[in-house]
Amino acid sequence: MSKGNIMNTYGRFDVIFEKGIGSRIYDINGKEYVDFVSGVATNCLGHSHPAIINAITEQSKQLIHISNYYWNTKHVLLAEKLIQNSDHRSVFFCNSGTEAVEGALKLARKHGKLTGNIGKNILLYMDNSFHGRSMGALSVTGQDKYQKDFTPLIGGVKKIQFNDIEDLKNNFSDDVCGIIIEPIQGEGGINVANIEYLKEVRRLCDVHDALLIFDEIQCGMGRLGSLFAYKKFNVIPDVICIAKALGGGFPIGAVVANERADKAVAPGDHGSTFGGNPLGCAVSLAVLNELVDGGIVDSVEEKGNYIREKLYKLKDKYNIIDEVKGMGLLIGISLKTNPKDFVNACFNKGLLVVTAGTNVVRLLPPLNVSMEDMDKALEILEAVFSETTV
Ligand SMILES: *Cc1c(COP(=O)(O)O)cnc(C)c1O
Repeated sequence: MSKGNIMNTYGRFDVIFEKGIGSRIYDINGKEYVDFVSGVATNCLGHSHPAIINAITEQSKQLIHISNYYWNTKHVLLAEKLIQNSDHRSVFFCNSGTEAVEGALKLARKHGKLTGNIGKNILLYMDNSFHGRSMGALSVTGQDKYQKDFTPLIGGVKKIQFNDIEDLKNNFSDDVCGIIIEPIQGEGGINVANIEYLKEVRRLCDVHDALLIFDEIQCGMGRLGSLFAYKKFNVIPDVICIAKALGGGFPIGAVVANERADKAVAPGDHGSTFGGNPLGCAVSLAVLNELVDGGIVDSVEEKGNYIREKLYKLKDKYNIIDEVKGMGLLIGISLKTNPKDFVNACFNKGLLVVTAGTNVVRLLPPLNVSMEDMDKALEILEAVFSETTV
């Protein structure tokens, strides 16, 4: 198989995968791996889940795609389900996380326009954040390595320091139309926002009439132990971006908004050809049914604690572990050694994990991961810790 026709945008592992079941995945030579990457927090029900197979099969016999000129039962039901589980009132469907971020940024800009203050177009974003690779999402991604080769980016954006209340106050004004934050920075290194910080962000958004946007693309959809991540922080954003686990591996994204954020929207403002297609929405409905009604979200905290407690014990034993980070099943292990080498060593032993930031290894198991698979992953991690020296 010649792989030379795939554009060179990723440094890939030398492996070709063929099939997966639950938290296990197999390459074309039949080698088995425990999958603690889950398509980067996407395959929340693992591989080959019967509910997803069934939804794809049944919906594909009915309707795969129509157009947003018409209603379909599945996008209506999916929006209803999301709203029932949030403090918000409307949903815009798209196909990816990046597109959800684009939609949210446009809501903030329109919100600014409607206030009548012509200068109200500034979007604040965080150092070390990650929101996607399109020109808009990239413009609010606070990492030089992603931005530097693609300037000029969009104007009217301002980077501030994550979790720094002074910096926040110094940069907030009536010209700010929105601020975008990951409650837990995923790509940036599993950095958890302080509740006090988020409360201050909420307060300043109210004082200055700006939209608070939470990017829950990685930390939402049950990964922290509640369907929406914001519920763990007791701060209600105006806009939530979701994607990744929303489709359990099928591409779908969404922008969830309250009245403050969506009242400015009129037909023609935003759109998507595939957004809200019946197939994607049927899959997502099946996923949410498992996550919420099937009790999987409720099991996340316990599983996360189980892994975390084992990791604390390993930290006492192996001094290459610096810190155990994160919440629920969004787990980071910061290392005193190169995380890339560590990830490669895990890979060779049959465990898929991924790096984050400069020194963190991320564990993103499926949310329905079994005890046996958690133990297997921990066993491989321990084997690699024991062989790694600082
Ligand atoms: C993955 C991710 C995105 C981008 O989502 P895509 O589906 O790859 O476009 C944006 N924000 C966060 C926090 C993410 O983890």
